Amino acid sequence: MYCRGGLNLLYKGLSRPIGRTTKPVWGSLSRSLVLSPQWRIPEFNSFVARTNTCGELRSSHLGQEVTLCGWIQYRRQNIFLVLRDFHGLVQVVIPQEESAASLKKMLCEAPVESVVQVSGTVISRPPGQENPKMPTGEIEIKVKTAELLNSCKKLPFEIKDFVKKTEALRLQYRYLDLRSSQMQYNLRLRSQTVMKMREYLCNLHGFVDVETPTLFKKTPGGAKEFVVPSREPGKFYSLPQSPQQFKQLLMVGGLDRYFQVARCYRDEGSRPDRQPEFTQIDIEMSFVDQTGIQSLIEGLLQYSWPKDKDPVVVPFPSMTFAEAVSTYGTDKPDTRFGMKIVDISDVFRNTKIGFLQDVLSKPQGTIKAICIPEGAKYLQRKDIETIRKFAGEQFNQEVLPLLLKANRNWNSPVAKSIMEEERLGLIRLLEIQEEDTVLLTAGEHKKTCSLLGKLRLECADLLEARGVVLRDPSLFSFLWVVDFPLFLPKEENPGELESAHHPFTAPHPSDIHLLYTEPEKVRGQHYDLVLNGNEIGGGSIRIHNAELQHYILASLLKEDVKLLSHLLQALDYGAPPHGGIALGLDRLICLVTGAASIRDVIAFPKSFQGHDLMSNAPDYIPPEDLKPYHIQISRPTDSEAEKSSLNHPAHPES
Ligand code: ASP
Repeated sequence: MYCRGGLNLLYKGLSRPIGRTTKPVWGSLSRSLVLSPQWRIPEFNSFVARTNTCGELRSSHLGQEVTLCGWIQYRRQNIFLVLRDFHGLVQVVIPQEESAASLKKMLCEAPVESVVQVSGTVISRPPGQENPKMPTGEIEIKVKTAELLNSCKKLPFEIKDFVKKTEALRLQYRYLDLRSSQMQYNLRLRSQTVMKMREYLCNLHGFVDVETPTLFKKTPGGAKEFVVPSREPGKFYSLPQSPQQFKQLLMVGGLDRYFQVARCYRDEGSRPDRQPEFTQIDIEMSFVDQTGIQSLIEGLLQYSWPKDKDPVVVPFPSMTFAEAVSTYGTDKPDTRFGMKIVDISDVFRNTKIGFLQDVLSKPQGTIKAICIPEGAKYLQRKDIETIRKFAGEQFNQEVLPLLLKANRNWNSPVAKSIMEEERLGLIRLLEIQEEDTVLLTAGEHKKTCSLLGKLRLECADLLEARGVVLRDPSLFSFLWVVDFPLFLPKEENPGELESAHHPFTAPHPSDIHLLYTEPEKVRGQHYDLVLNGNEIGGGSIRIHNAELQHYILASLLKEDVKLLSHLLQALDYGAPPHGGIALGLDRLICLVTGAASIRDVIAFPKSFQGHDLMSNAPDYIPPEDLKPYHIQISRPTDSEAEKSSLNHPAHPES
């Protein structure tokens, strides 16, 4: 009579969040949807019409009269109805007696996802009919009364995790998508993490939660800002890309330890896994050094880390920027697996291979390689072709594949030209085993590292797609990257400098003298926190000396200092030494939950084109509404609008 298959399926759909994580993220349905309470179980039923949540009922509730409110998840043969709330599922028995005909009619006819209130008795399921896979599977509800609170129209998609839907549709009907167990889990985990962070910072370490303005003005340095028109002709506010200046000013103001769950805005155009508005855990402290900030963050993450994950091990390892670039080809290395970049220039000092000789004769010329374990087995000829094409097109670099065959011979276009001692040198340096593939490239240091860094990740994806487990999905590999250069050559004009972090970062104390002679050699007191190859935070010790700040802004960065006169002035009024950091909350929660995208941990995200697909923001406003702002626009004609929507489709993910 009971449909075990149906409920099992239903349970399966609700129990396992989709996404990159291959292991189940939680063990039981009831635990999953409210997460594991860390000290006490919250009171979910205060102030509301229900007596209990659907997901909490067990055999211990037998005989109790309960009132539940929830959505109709499922109905079976007009005999059972499965009711769902944020906490889980419970089975309700639809009365069959004549005397309850109108109740039966309502429960049988209410469409799926209608919201109902049900009152009745908790009874045990008949022997043999229990569902051990369902946390409430030992009991069911014998209904006495029920009320249809609101009916549900035909849905654009079913609220079941195993039903595939495009992301565009999910974003368009976000309020329905939020009903999924995946979104419920992600948002609840986010809320609990932030609560624990608040507690750690404010209650355990005396931080002050201060809100700073989101209507600010355009100031130099950093990402492009959104502008907001004002009623004063030609004047605009700007939405801050971070509360950086305010938090420093709070230190001047003697707040001493500041924190904020801060909304930040960056107008960076469409980027696949970025959001134009995002959230940072923003922190600043007075009288602190780099190790102080690092210890604070390690403690914060350890304290707020979900209890159902492996605990965070501190202190986190640390690597210099130079080492990160030369061994991983990036400033955010994924340290969960090897395949490191190795400089093999010395092996080829006497090479007969022409293009390698050429490269080594240049002052910056190097030869580097990565070794892909069992590459000969897992990488196909067409993969190698794609890799070589990518290197040629994106980096203007030649990549040579070398495959060590079982008979210890090379399979490579240059196999014949590799001398025996070079062969042995390579095997030793790269620790090559039979069936491994080596990818070799030659050229300028930064370019070769950056190319091999990309190929390393690309090959890891390829190997994993073919079943090799390189990166354990339950592993969280934190890493501090330190000793960044204070300045980098500007991309668009390499003759000029720009800040590697932001213009308020203090130089390394032992490099200050170089500021006046070789500024490009100065290291900054800047640190980034990397998790599994993603930058999840960054910060620095700040300049608290007005003169030094003025010199860096005006003389080295060629910025208009007038725009920052408020900050420069403040530094002159007894500004304490200070430093801070910001953690990207969206990215952090995305990695912790194993979600496929940061949009899956934000309640109402924008599409990657920056659109709100639910309300259609941004949208036109009538010319008369623009008048107070002294703004006139020439609205695109219908055909121009159509053309632009083809270039920026409203539903890019579909
Ligand atoms: N404001 C910086 C950022 O948003 C973080 C910091 O330096 O504290 O990246």
